[in-house]
Amino acid sequence: MDISKKTKLKPTIGLEIHIELRTKSKMFCACSADHFGKKANSLTCPVCLGLPGALPVPNKKAIEWTILFGKALNSRINHYSKFDRKHYFYPDLPKGYQISQYDIPFCEGGYVKVGDKNINITRVHLEEDTGKLQHKKIKDKEVSLVDFNRSGVPLMEIVTEPDIESADQAKQFAKKIRRIARYLDISDCDMEKGSMRLEANVSWGIDLGYKVEVKNLNSFNYLKKAIEYELERQNKLIAKGEMPIQETRGWDENKNITVSQRVKETSADYRYFPEPDIPPIHFTKTYIEELSAKMPNLPDDYENILIEFNVPEQFIDIILEDIHLAEYTIKEIKYSKKQNEKLSPQVIVEEIINKKLQPQKAIVGKVTKDILSKKQSIIKNEGELEDLVEKAIQQNKKAVSDYKSGKIQAISALMGTVMAISKGKADPKKTIQLLKDRLK
Ligand SMILES: [Zn+2]
Repeated sequence: MDISKKTKLKPTIGLEIHIELRTKSKMFCACSADHFGKKANSLTCPVCLGLPGALPVPNKKAIEWTILFGKALNSRINHYSKFDRKHYFYPDLPKGYQISQYDIPFCEGGYVKVGDKNINITRVHLEEDTGKLQHKKIKDKEVSLVDFNRSGVPLMEIVTEPDIESADQAKQFAKKIRRIARYLDISDCDMEKGSMRLEANVSWGIDLGYKVEVKNLNSFNYLKKAIEYELERQNKLIAKGEMPIQETRGWDENKNITVSQRVKETSADYRYFPEPDIPPIHFTKTYIEELSAKMPNLPDDYENILIEFNVPEQFIDIILEDIHLAEYTIKEIKYSKKQNEKLSPQVIVEEIINKKLQPQKAIVGKVTKDILSKKQSIIKNEGELEDLVEKAIQQNKKAVSDYKSGKIQAISALMGTVMAISKGKADPKKTIQLLKDRLK
């Protein structure tokens, strides 16, 4: 079969993103959810160890945050929802099943805007995290140990439609998801600690009937590289007339390639059924409305304001990474406008970024005042500047002779000296003109 003729091929990418919520306690028990770096198995109880007879009690905050997150992605909230058991065997899953959500997740549909495109959301649901395996060598023996501290930590999963068309778009989308979660203050989304985990489904078209799942991508760059690699690998196969196989692959960060982990002929049978220990959950309209009222400003809201202020795109991206920085920047620009100062927002933003300002400690108005006082202290007086130029020439005989012998760039050494003596206060335009005149 000639696959390449069968259909118009285009990169078809969907993402699955897991985010650990930073609730105080775990999803179904009172154990602390703050598990990172803690002594192994110190945060456990019969519920998260899956001991017989232990009863799970859902964490209200985790549910509230998942709904809020769904609202931020423009999702529909199901007024009737439930938890289900997803069965599979793995040593880090003591119950033999994971409590997750199957056919009625908390949130369905929705979209996230990336550039000019809306990436559609399939669902946002809530589940519990698993334990963690540690592979070690003890007394010359290879052993696998299990740490259950992470078992039962609330885990939110976001699934997209296969709408993403490039590796870069996937990266932009994932970054935006992290931003939204951080703006809502529901997770630190620290990928090194595993509190945000990325998976990509990659193919050259849904109608080709296969997709390759790339798992355990723990940085935005690995996500991008893995998708680029997969698209190329699959494309080469298709060009040879071979259909890529449906499989799960992992990213080898040392070799910069994806490697096959598992080939699945059919989709796994998880034997989902409703969790009998947790009654279905009803949300009243009032409850959802009250929750929605708590929605803070989102990245898009701040972005729109910054665009209105004509802040250049590359700066907007830096500022939006931190909600406090976004808030502070907007307040500072507004302050400067109120003072009737003719400072362009770009100058203010540059100053904020260059100074690596701590937005939570900074006082509104200080940046504007700093820029203005710097402006005022600039030396424009020709006599003063001439003195500085003279000093620089005396100190840089070599640069002077170089310049005179035709090495024009030697003037930058002289300029540097003027700036050093004047502590950066010499007017650069006037100084360079004076230098040129003096060296003629
Ligand atoms: Zn527990």
